[in-house]
Parts: sequence; C-alpha cells; structure tokens
Amino acid sequence: IATYVLSHFPGTAAESRLALIDSITDSRLTYAQLRLSVHSFASALHHAIGIQKGDVVFVLSPNSLLYPIICLSVLFIGAVLTTANPLNTRPEIAKQVYDSNAKLIISSPEQAHKFESTTLPVLITTRSASPNDNVVTVEELIEAGDPLGVPEVEVEVEEGDTAAVLYSSGTTGVSKGVVLTHGNLVAVTRLLRWTVDVSSAREDVFLCFIPMFHVYGLAFFGLGLFSVGVTVVVMPKFDFKAMLQVVERCKVNNMPGVPPLLLGLVKTENDRNLSSLKRVGSGAAPLSKEVAAKFREKYPWVELREGYGLTETSGATSYFVSDDDAKAHHGSVGQLLPGICAKVVDAETGEALPPNRKGELWLKSPTVMKCYLGNKEATAATIDKEGWLRTGDLCYIDGDGFIYIVDRIKELIKHNGYQVAPAELEALLLSHTKILDAAVVPVPDEETGQIPMAFVVRAANSELTEEQVIDFVASQVAPYKKVRRVSFIDAIPRSAAGKILRKELLSQTQSLASK
Ligand code: ATP
Repeated sequence: IATYVLSHFPGTAAESRLALIDSITDSRLTYAQLRLSVHSFASALHHAIGIQKGDVVFVLSPNSLLYPIICLSVLFIGAVLTTANPLNTRPEIAKQVYDSNAKLIISSPEQAHKFESTTLPVLITTRSASPNDNVVTVEELIEAGDPLGVPEVEVEVEEGDTAAVLYSSGTTGVSKGVVLTHGNLVAVTRLLRWTVDVSSAREDVFLCFIPMFHVYGLAFFGLGLFSVGVTVVVMPKFDFKAMLQVVERCKVNNMPGVPPLLLGLVKTENDRNLSSLKRVGSGAAPLSKEVAAKFREKYPWVELREGYGLTETSGATSYFVSDDDAKAHHGSVGQLLPGICAKVVDAETGEALPPNRKGELWLKSPTVMKCYLGNKEATAATIDKEGWLRTGDLCYIDGDGFIYIVDRIKELIKHNGYQVAPAELEALLLSHTKILDAAVVPVPDEETGQIPMAFVVRAANSELTEEQVIDFVASQVAPYKKVRRVSFIDAIPRSAAGKILRKELLSQTQSLASK
C-alpha cells in the first residue's frame, strides 16, 4: 500500500505541491518532502531500530503532520500498523498493546505516560518541553535522514500480508482487532478515487479532523488522499469553532465529516466566510434526513455527500457519485463503490431478499478484512464460507441500487414484539427547533421488554418539557415507537468518529433506575 500511494504522488514536476498543512502551527510539507520523510523514517525504523517485516508498531497520537509519515513508513517496510484512540485509558492501551503483540510503541509526548511501565521500546514523536528529554524523536530521525545517504529498504510485500490491525471502538460490544491486508488497503485506496473529484484534486484543500487512528481517517488522510494529490490541512481533533476558522483561513473546499459536524453547521449560527467550501461528506453514523435537508437549504453552494463503511471493509463501501443522485435519494448512503457486491438477507432464514425489503446487509469485496485478530469464532460468525461479511446493519436497497441504512441490528429497541430503530426517533427529535441534539436508548421494562428513552440537549433558553417531547414524538409515529421517558442533558456523548456512545447513556439509565 505504501508503494502504491508513493507511486501515485503528483509527478516530479508537481512535487512542490503542498501535501500537508498543520492547522495550528501552519507548518507545511510538500509532496517531495513527504516522500523524503517517509524514506528517511522507514529506513530509520528498519535499519536503526531493527523493525522487521511483520513486526507490529503501535501508534498513539492525535492527528498531526507526522501521523501519515509514520503510517506510510511502517507499511513501507512491511511492518504492521496498529493505532489507538488517545482518549483510551492506560489499562485499555495496555490491553491493546498486549493483544496486538506490539514490538515498538510510537507515542506523542502527551500520551507517553501511558507507557511508563512497559518493557517495550517507546519512540516519542516530537520533543516535549521537558528538559530531561534526551531521547531521539521521530521528528529528529526524519530530519537526520540525508536523502542521498538513507540506506534503501528492500522488503517484498505481498497483497495478502497483514498491513494493519485496527481496533473497532466497541460501540456494540467488545473491541476487536480487525486485520487488514495490503491488498485490502490498496483496494480501498483505489475506491477513494470515486469519492473525490479527481479532475480538480490537485487544487483541492481537504480538512482533516477525522481521527487518523480510525479507519475513516486512516484510509482517507493517513494514506489514500495522497495518491490523488490533494492538500490536507490537519487538525488534532474535532473542534467546531476552530474548524470554522480553519476553513476560512486555509480556503478549505472539501470536508469529509461526520453527523455532529453537519448538526453543528445547521443548528448554530456563525459569521465565518465558508464560501470556499465545495463539498462536505458525512459517514460513520446515521445522518438525519431533516439535518441533511436543512444543510442544503442553508449552504446551497456546498454539495453534501453521504457515504457508508465499516472497519471490517477497510472503510468506504458506498457513496454518491453525483450530487443530483445525492439530492434525489434523501436518507440513502449512496450506491456500492465499484467491485463491491451486496445482498440483503433475512436474518432468520438466511434468504436473500428482493429490492426494497429490509434485512441484514451482507458484503463481499476485495476490501473485506482477513479476520479478527486471534478470534476464529468471531471471524467465523462474521464472514461466511463464501466470503460474505455480515455487517450487522439493517437496511434496504432500492431498485436503482441506493442503500438505506435503517440502524444497527444490535441497537434496535425491542418493544412489545416490535423493533424500534433509535436512528428514526433521533432524526425526528432533531427536526424539533428547540432540540439541539438527541439520542434514544432502550430501557428495560417488565411488561413490554424495552421502552425507548430519549436523551435530549435543549436549545439555549428553551424550556422544553418532558411531556412536550413525548407528545411531539407521539404525534408523528406509530404508538409502539413512542418515546416513553426523556432526560435532558448538556451534551450527547459521542466517539471520535461521531457515533453516539450508547453504553454511556445506558449506564445513566441504570443509575436513574436505581435512584
Ligand atoms: P464496533 O463495530 O465494535 O461497535 P465501531 O462502531 O467503531 O465499533 P465502525 O467500523 O467504526 O465500528 O462502524 C461501522 C458501523 O458504523 C457500520 O456498521 C454502521 O452501523 C455505522 N455507519 C457507518 N456509516 C454510516 C452511515 N453513513 N449511516 C449510518 N450508519 C453508518
């Protein structure tokens, strides 16, 4: 994958094009410098540190200019990349280091304390302010690499070799290590060409606040986008106000995003000049139709494209190839990208269903993972003998191949024998002018099994009551879908990739129940 990406860089004459800009320090890296940095660091990793093909390198850092360099270098020498969320606690990190069988840790200085008790070598990305710091950093290893003097790295990498182990965030269960091969990552990088406007890519400026430790950020910003020659402005993490400023200052025109970004753009006022924006994306979690419609109304010059993917499919699986299609198919996550096959299956009978019937989405594609690391049972339960991946998502596909995700099967609320999709109720709640954000979770109920409970963030100065919320929902949906309890909170907990952290809300419902 690293060789594929590097060989698709803009031609030598255009290597002065900017590949990366740091949104905070404004430091910049051209494509030529990115190439040299990757060669220097790959060489240092292999020759000086002794990392061999197949060794696992564990990376813990917020987004930075060094992140793509580290990813490309690790992959270039045939080592295996594993990444973690900087919000993870020390025990969570220790578990992942152990599970992945890491040989080397690369950490940002602020995260390094999480490795104090490890016996593994730890390489810090940049020198921190601390005067005792007499270690060599990634930054220094890159700078030390004399382009002419860097010893070549000659490692044969095959398509089926493991490239990365990405840990799912475990929003619906225990976090698992998803094993992706070089072939998977090349396949998804090829697909990225369908999700960007390749004709203008070499003038495009993309904003990256999606975390690079997650498949979405890694496939787009850590690897793939450099193969089409765009400039990437890197933010360490999602910060709505800072994001608006950066769009204005750097004339960002493309922003692959997540639903909370769209929600922010729709529900809050700002006086920033966002006229440079050409396209905004949404993926990783359901985007309500109402929020999408309001976005189009408020920012008519910006294309809104939804896409869908999983860690298990190396990211991008469906997308809208044209804006007209996106506008005409509200609520859809687009059509399958080329080379991906799908069927919708009745979860009970295993029978493939015709268009427009709801069932579980199964996928087959060169982007489908090899396995879950060290977990044959989970792999066999997820990928069948013919190679179909069960996504765990309830969906339907219309006659023209547009996919509509209803919800995650595991997150459906089972009420009185009916299934209620939280995403539908959340979309409805978000259409209320006095509601800023909302999430719906199941609460156990002796009589009916489960009841839907809404967590609601009220708009400023609104005095919306529980009764008003319940009545509003009841006036729009069938009786079995009614929200039966409401709790007002300050913010909906979300993962770095924008997914609602239902487990946190569920534990709040338990503490409410025990009061
Ligand atoms: P885990 O699988 O352990 O719960 P996770 O949530 O981090 O962890 P991901 O691979 O990040 O796993 O998420 C993939 C899921 O995200 C999909 O199966 C789907 O449910 C959801 N998803 C992705 N894109 C969209 C979208 N556009 N609309 C609705 N849901 C989406």
